[in-house]
Amino acid sequence: MIVHQIYADNPLRNFHYLIACPETRDAMVIDPLDVQKCLDRAANDGLNITKILNTHEHWDHIGGNAEMQEKTGANIYAHHGAVKKIDNVEVGLKAGDIISVGTTVKLKVMDTPGHTMSHICLLSDTEPPALFCGDTLFNAGAGNCHNGGDPDDMYDTFAGQLELLSDQTQIYPGHDYIINNLGFTLDREPGNKEAQKMLDKLQRQDPHNAYITTMKDERRINSFFRLTSPVIIQKLQQEVPSISENPVPREIFKALRELRNHW
Ligand SMILES: [Zn+2]
Repeated sequence: MIVHQIYADNPLRNFHYLIACPETRDAMVIDPLDVQKCLDRAANDGLNITKILNTHEHWDHIGGNAEMQEKTGANIYAHHGAVKKIDNVEVGLKAGDIISVGTTVKLKVMDTPGHTMSHICLLSDTEPPALFCGDTLFNAGAGNCHNGGDPDDMYDTFAGQLELLSDQTQIYPGHDYIINNLGFTLDREPGNKEAQKMLDKLQRQDPHNAYITTMKDERRINSFFRLTSPVIIQKLQQEVPSISENPVPREIFKALRELRNHW
């Protein structure tokens, strides 16, 4: 499987992806916004874009669909619940569906509500696996829930699906937010050495050539996977009077998500 992560270099710091079959050179583009950047990268690597996939319906993930479709003739794939929200969707996807690219690439559809209620992630069958996670999971963070989403569903997605991914799984999110997110991690858990080490290492990284985290990294540096950390719990209890004495992980997750909205 060929994976190109393409940085849009826009204020929202979007990442686009080309996922391609090395045998046939067929490619699927994920969440195109800067269409020309995606087309240029495909041309440079001799790839033929045959599918467009949207992880969810927000404008910065679908804004390039029409131009991309016009220039490539590719069909659009999205969550079945987004078919009415995104123009010209050909295929509405459900959990467990398999998307093929060329003859060698197979990606399993995960139904991952929370950021919006019609959000999918894709998991490759490669070793190591790759997760294309849109605005659900970010490097060292989680997507917001205030634009059509729900923090309870987001918690269920994290605890019920993302937590179960293997340590080796590589994380390919929809935006480059890792530096800010590591700052939030350190604000919540000041002694987190792994997060500090990664922040020092990535502080001046070029997002055109970004570090790809793994689930092993995320379990260490992402507060939203560290809901039983005594430091995180105690600090929240000091700052948020409504946190209970023995909070369950859902309560911590939602409190972190709320804090992150204003941080
Ligand atoms: Zn979004």
